[in-house]
Amino acid sequence: MRLLLFGAPGVGKGTQAKLLSSKFNIPHISTGDILRQAVKDETELGKKAQEIMSKGDLVPDDIMIGIIKYRLSKSDCKAGFILDGFPRTTNQAIELDKLLNEMNIRDVKLVNISADEEEIVKRLNNRRACKECGHIFTLTEIEHSKSCPDCKAKESFYLREDDKEEVIRKRMEVFRKTTEPVLKYYEKKGKVILVNGLGSVEEVNKELLKTLYK
Ligand SMILES: [Zn+2]
Repeated sequence: MRLLLFGAPGVGKGTQAKLLSSKFNIPHISTGDILRQAVKDETELGKKAQEIMSKGDLVPDDIMIGIIKYRLSKSDCKAGFILDGFPRTTNQAIELDKLLNEMNIRDVKLVNISADEEEIVKRLNNRRACKECGHIFTLTEIEHSKSCPDCKAKESFYLREDDKEEVIRKRMEVFRKTTEPVLKYYEKKGKVILVNGLGSVEEVNKELLKTLYK
């Protein structure tokens, strides 16, 4: 199973990726993570990426593709993989297609987890993080708690910057503008699997599995 995971910020993409990864025993490859790893390992590409990022610029597509190629060539990707965070632009989609062709990988599907913007805003705005242990809870979960259920810290809950309505809406807008063309690109190729991202983690996962088995 080879999947590209796609969805608006806050839709629970990372959580679903982890569930799929353990269910099918294939790696969850977050491009953010492999980029950080390459920088840490000081690989040739990692060094180049570091230099560019230190100037505040975005890592160019050819370097990202190189880092992805390196990761997909590892033996744990033989049975499949879940790529998360790439492609984010049509150009990246074209470059990724070239790479996958070169690697003889042709059965890639793009999973689009979609959810209504208002629902996402409501959901994220309803989260509180513990400033001591970083665990995230919903308001309902901690309704009657005066201390963190995980680390027992007192009055440690706060609304993270990323979960603030204004910040979420801004990220959604960026997502709509830059990433929706990517969706169209894969739709034209008939490679999109659409999943409704509303509902609990379990519900979304159930629907996702049902769609994948179809
Ligand atoms: Zn805590």
